[in-house]
Amino acid sequence: MLRRFLAILILVVSLSWNLGVIDASAGDEDPRYRVCVKECKETGCVGETCFPYCKFSSNDATIDGTWFILEPLYCQSDCCYHCMIDREKEREALLGSAPLKYHGKWPFKRVYGIQEPASVIFSLLNLAMNFHGWLSFFILVNYKLPLKGDKKAYYEFASLWHIYGLLTMNSWLWSAVSHCRDVELMEKLDYSSTVVLLGYSLIVAILRSCNLRDDAARVMVTAPVLAFVTTHIMFQNFYKLNYGWNMIVCVFMAVLQLLIWAIFGRVTRHPSRWKLWLVVVAGGLSMLLKICDFPPYEGYVDAHALWHATTVPLTYIWWSFVRDDAAFRTMNLLKKAK
Ligand SMILES: [Zn+2]
Repeated sequence: MLRRFLAILILVVSLSWNLGVIDASAGDEDPRYRVCVKECKETGCVGETCFPYCKFSSNDATIDGTWFILEPLYCQSDCCYHCMIDREKEREALLGSAPLKYHGKWPFKRVYGIQEPASVIFSLLNLAMNFHGWLSFFILVNYKLPLKGDKKAYYEFASLWHIYGLLTMNSWLWSAVSHCRDVELMEKLDYSSTVVLLGYSLIVAILRSCNLRDDAARVMVTAPVLAFVTTHIMFQNFYKLNYGWNMIVCVFMAVLQLLIWAIFGRVTRHPSRWKLWLVVVAGGLSMLLKICDFPPYEGYVDAHALWHATTVPLTYIWWSFVRDDAAFRTMNLLKKAK
């Protein structure tokens, strides 16, 4: 079972590596699309549709970068969006062909100005589910389970899970915001908070599965992961945002922690290890959705949105495992104390 699982994980990593390197964006390489965006930047119009906040003389800024700094961020985003929709309509009418990616993303139809409504809804559901999970964990540890003499919880990993809860909620918040509209700043915040979360949850996976409780051992694990994550984020934000490389880093950290939990689930006699297994196997399978990356159905629901949907029930099971773990460890420690 473990061997088969390892084989699937290796397949997933190699697939994502390939996809990451290809980084398909055939749509924005189309000369007609490029001309459309260039004209929109100069005139503030795409066909009949005009954006008053984009109107400025072409002498103000002819270089892309300057234009981007001078004008509101959503002007660039709107030019790209309307050119993309026009181009996709033309392509469908003339060639009847499948949609193309633009700047690394599928063409979505906006709903009330929201670029990817399905992904926004599922991100918010994930946020709510994590809040529920974290809150119930907080109540369990601080009010339901017995406390030590100094009013502190017996469970040694409580503070690690509290920070984890905050980081997941932060990450889903930025995910929802960045799926609302294609703006580079939001995208960077989304990517960065995902990397921070993945790095941190990798640390938690190592600390909990190896049962590391003393500070020295915890620092030994935390320091290298933290250094790696910080370097990656600085590189992505201040040097070059590379989608392919970011994808590889994220998949690597995600697969590594799934692997750690899988091995822990295999060797431990934890009463709730089936929950761990369920999350690991379903989480691994749901990553296939992320890698399949099919275009949005009717312009609304794509593989990415469905991937966000699958993590909603998995989050529920995950926090339920964390609560069980707190209760299990507390009972063990109480037994030992007696
Ligand atoms: Zn997303």
